[in-house]
Amino acid sequence: MTTGRYSAPRTRSLRALPKAHLHLHFEAAVRRSVLSAATHGLGELPPVRHGAGFDGFAETYLAMIDFLAAPGMFDVAFDAAARDAAEEGVVYVELAVSPHFYTSAYGSAYAALEAMARAAETATAEHEVHIGLMLTIDRTLPPAAAEEVVDLALAFSSRGVVSVGAANDERDHPLSPFTSAFRRASDAGLTVAPHAGELVGPDSVRDALSVGATRIQHGVRAIEDNDLVAELAARDICLDVCPTSNVLLGVVPEVEQHPLSALLDANVPCTLNADDPTILGVSILDEYKTARTTLALSDEKLAQCARTSIRFAPLDDDTKAHALAAIDCWLGAAEENS
Ligand SMILES: [Zn+2]
Repeated sequence: MTTGRYSAPRTRSLRALPKAHLHLHFEAAVRRSVLSAATHGLGELPPVRHGAGFDGFAETYLAMIDFLAAPGMFDVAFDAAARDAAEEGVVYVELAVSPHFYTSAYGSAYAALEAMARAAETATAEHEVHIGLMLTIDRTLPPAAAEEVVDLALAFSSRGVVSVGAANDERDHPLSPFTSAFRRASDAGLTVAPHAGELVGPDSVRDALSVGATRIQHGVRAIEDNDLVAELAARDICLDVCPTSNVLLGVVPEVEQHPLSALLDANVPCTLNADDPTILGVSILDEYKTARTTLALSDEKLAQCARTSIRFAPLDDDTKAHALAAIDCWLGAAEENS
């Protein structure tokens, strides 16, 4: 049996499970081995400072910006991201980008985003993986900077920009000052999907809801408040969850204690994501494997995460219907180790 371009797998291999990748940062979007092969001869990938917590992570991230600012590197990186996604059974990837990081390299954030949009279009055509762009508000900057990000998002809404997020340190940096910027984005039909509930607890998730979030990147610390968990389920707010990232950045002490299973049991829509493969060393497939083994999620629950990812992806109805049918088909195959 085939559903469009999908053919029925013999076993429930996680690679064969169609999925969307909704929480992924451009500067660290690709498995290191894949990116290193793609950029061979174009420069040396920055080393990762293992075990250095958030500070080490941030240092490596900044070095990745310098690495990707070199001429022509956007084309290489988008191509590698699309190839990597296709190899892992990803049908849609939403890359969080910050064109303002590349203002000096490209002359303006507009020119940088134009180069990104062009690279994304080419990679989509080459690898048959749909790519969406999320423009990221830096929550540590003044509201005027957020308005500029939304101006750019609106200018490129017909060229692949589908959402507006927010990143950087949650602590002491609430989203409420950016309410008008997020409202302009959602009024124009863009998804509002900020980071929240990662370094700060339930108040941060409520803060994200107050600015119109319909997806939240992480959001896992909502688990500390039962009323909030019930609200997320009732309002169908999607959490784009990254278990390994949460462990490596100290949000939860170990994967076994990750709240993904409890959130799913409470009917909160959750997706599985890698966050920063180049730096954290995990891919989306690794995260599905971890959910299956360490978190002991059933294949039904894994399929539920995949269905949610497709449901919240900005794909056309036909593409969604095909992917959802293929997920049903995957569940009908034999267990992977039987
Ligand atoms: Zn993230």
